[in-house]
Amino acid sequence: MTATRPVLLGVPWDENSSYLRGAAAAPPRIREALWCESSNAWGENGVELTQDSLSDAGDLAAASGDEMVARIEGAVGELIDRGLAPISLGGDHAITYPALRAFARRYPRLSILHFDAHPDLYDVFQGNRLSHACPFARIMEENLAQRLVQVGLRTVSRHQRDQARRFGVEMIEMREFREDFDPRFETPIYVTFDLDGLDPAHAPGVSHPEPGGLTTRQAVDLIYRVGAPIVGADVVELNPARDATGITAMVAAKIVKEIAAKMLEESGDQRQREIGRSSIR
Ligand code: MN
Ligand code: MN
Repeated sequence: MTATRPVLLGVPWDENSSYLRGAAAAPPRIREALWCESSNAWGENGVELTQDSLSDAGDLAAASGDEMVARIEGAVGELIDRGLAPISLGGDHAITYPALRAFARRYPRLSILHFDAHPDLYDVFQGNRLSHACPFARIMEENLAQRLVQVGLRTVSRHQRDQARRFGVEMIEMREFREDFDPRFETPIYVTFDLDGLDPAHAPGVSHPEPGGLTTRQAVDLIYRVGAPIVGADVVELNPARDATGITAMVAAKIVKEIAAKMLEESGDQRQREIGRSSIR
């Protein structure tokens, strides 16, 4: 089973943010930008998103700690069991651990493509093992994925480098990133997209802006270049309180749009697809 029919799920949860709250307010901002009439709903691959082809499970009700972990795992699992490919709208990066618990149970062979300025591999951060600085330590300890490939990194501490070695994480640091990088995935893929992986010139509305990152163009191209089906995703760490012009919400929506369009292409649902370039003026 590799379901690639996308569905949105809002996860308004930011209690594990280490520096600034605010990401919990992101899901409605991303939806608003996604369906905003300033753009259209066509992916770059010629697949159109509609309220039909990209369904929406709404936002999870807020809870705290382990109860929210269980709620996220349950909701994501239910959507997968309905034959769908959930795209979670964060929230901070702590939402990815419970989402991956749901995926791992249904996809024993799963690779993660992780966009981020930070490896998020701390064993514990500020005394919190659920911190948004820790999700990939939890995920790798519990063997929730076969491969974890991180791109956009530019803040790797010694502890996190040790953790990466311990867990066999493939780190592609920003200083060595090349535009033709191909992770050569051979299993279904989960894309986890922390917006601070992008340069703050492209995505300023985040809690931890970190100069020297990816362009939106490089990220979209990499998403289209992966050679295996994307069966789930999340887009996290938009902080609307830091997004004065709304541009970061537009970028988040762009990433959601292109991931969903790629999923639909893979699902063979191409009725909407425009054939040939002759009709493009
Ligand atoms: Mn992160
Ligand atoms: Mn980050």
